[in-house]
Amino acid sequence: MTFENLGLAADLLKAVEQTGYTTPTPVQVQAIPAAIAGHDLLVSSHTGSGKTAAFTLPALNRIIDRRPTQGSGPRILVLTPTRELAQQVEKAVQTYGKALRWLNTACLVGGAPMFAQIKQLQRQCDVVVATPGRLLDHLNRRKIKLSDVEVLILDEADRMLDMGFAEDIDAIVAATPAKRQTLLFSATLDGVVGSMANRMTRNPQRIEI
Ligand code: AMP
Repeated sequence: MTFENLGLAADLLKAVEQTGYTTPTPVQVQAIPAAIAGHDLLVSSHTGSGKTAAFTLPALNRIIDRRPTQGSGPRILVLTPTRELAQQVEKAVQTYGKALRWLNTACLVGGAPMFAQIKQLQRQCDVVVATPGRLLDHLNRRKIKLSDVEVLILDEADRMLDMGFAEDIDAIVAATPAKRQTLLFSATLDGVVGSMANRMTRNPQRIEI
């Protein structure tokens, strides 16, 4: 299997090539075409599996041919459990999205000054990567709108639940459109993660690596 067979736009393939990856990992082989086809996904995968590219690439593929309209909110929203992970994901989005000159990202995490983030949100942001608590804070202060979200990604969903973010996540998801695409990644898909997945996805494809 090669990256060329996965259905990605040429600009994304070029970015992948520039990172030096030659072969997609198993989670990328399964998740990328299914996400490009528009399915919701429940993916069990671990750090190191290449999961970040598995959700970042198809999400960017979805918006690559459409510049943002004036005043629109983020079209891609990624929730992560920690600041470090959010920063890594934002970096991956910038790396794979390099060819999209108009692409703006924002990273909204706790422990960083609120003011700088609010300022960042005043310009166009196409991709927001956030930890749930801080994002909800911005949402409650009406500093961000989530009504333009087309792809919602929950990264390490089990860890977010372990950290007590369930209610925050519910409030955030409720502010996104029902017709969004949802991609949920987690080490496990059982128990509380499974019931959260049921609430948030429609006819999801299950991918277990
Ligand atoms: P992740 O599981 O997303 O944290 O990725 C783990 C590491 O694998 C990161 O350093 C990625 O840059 C790298 N990686 C992701 N996809 C590939 C690939 N197809 N080939 C080689 N390395 C990759």
